[in-house]
Amino acid sequence: MISTRDLTKVFGSFTALSGISLDIMESEVVCIIGPSGSGKSTLLRCISFLEEYTSGEVEIEGRLLGYRRTPAGMVRETERNIDDVRRNVGMVFQHFNLWPHMSVLDNVTLGPRLTKRVPAATAEQAGRCALAKVGLEGFANRYPSQLSGGQQQRVGIARALAMEPHVILFDEPTSALDPQLVGEVLDTMKALAGEGITMVVVTHEMGFAAQVADRVVFMDGGQVIEQGPPSSLFGNPRSARLREFLETWK
Ligand code: ATP
Ligand code: MG
Repeated sequence: MISTRDLTKVFGSFTALSGISLDIMESEVVCIIGPSGSGKSTLLRCISFLEEYTSGEVEIEGRLLGYRRTPAGMVRETERNIDDVRRNVGMVFQHFNLWPHMSVLDNVTLGPRLTKRVPAATAEQAGRCALAKVGLEGFANRYPSQLSGGQQQRVGIARALAMEPHVILFDEPTSALDPQLVGEVLDTMKALAGEGITMVVVTHEMGFAAQVADRVVFMDGGQVIEQGPPSSLFGNPRSARLREFLETWK
């Protein structure tokens, strides 16, 4: 579903991603963990082409993202082609960035109306369905300021769902929330995972990763250091760096 091959991202003289090769399968839930600055967000941003990568390849559902191969090397694709490939990749951010002047329903339907040219009535129906999936059916006409942080993040998830993506990338979706609001967002994500939606989740919630992930990927210094099922990663970490990292989260 998503493959990265030797993916590298350099900022000036700093290498944020150093040769990442990862395959994410359909319906898989992959949690990415690692210390601050290890490149987790950069990896998600390169997969969704919010960030242009420096070298390597990203393939989404069999199509190259961002560049095409030519005899002279990789050439930048047209914006239209890039949008076409990334259309099925949804993203949920740490800071939900809802439009404050728009109702919950308008926030959720804006993407489909603008980028997919979906008629308003169809978008509204899909939007209400997405809100129901995150347990917010009665909140369509509220404004973001009238919601708790956990509810706002669930709107953020509904907004991603409304685009009917084939995969959703989550970048620390609960780390801006008060501790008592984290559970409702994780429960929402758990339900989505149960529906078979492909998910890549950068998280510090080790309990969630242990319970929900099919695979956990540990990154450090822009590299994948270790990956595997949560039971072996958490229960039997092989690298010293992962052991050290897990110690700090106990
Ligand atoms: P955190 O857990 O704190 O969110 P992270 O693993 O998501 O960390 P990234 O945000 O991917 O880390 O950053 C990886 C490295 O790349 C960091 O050292 C960061 O300072 C650097 N970096 C990220 N974005 C830029 C940028 N636009 N310009 C320069 N350096 C950047
Ligand atoms: Mg980050």
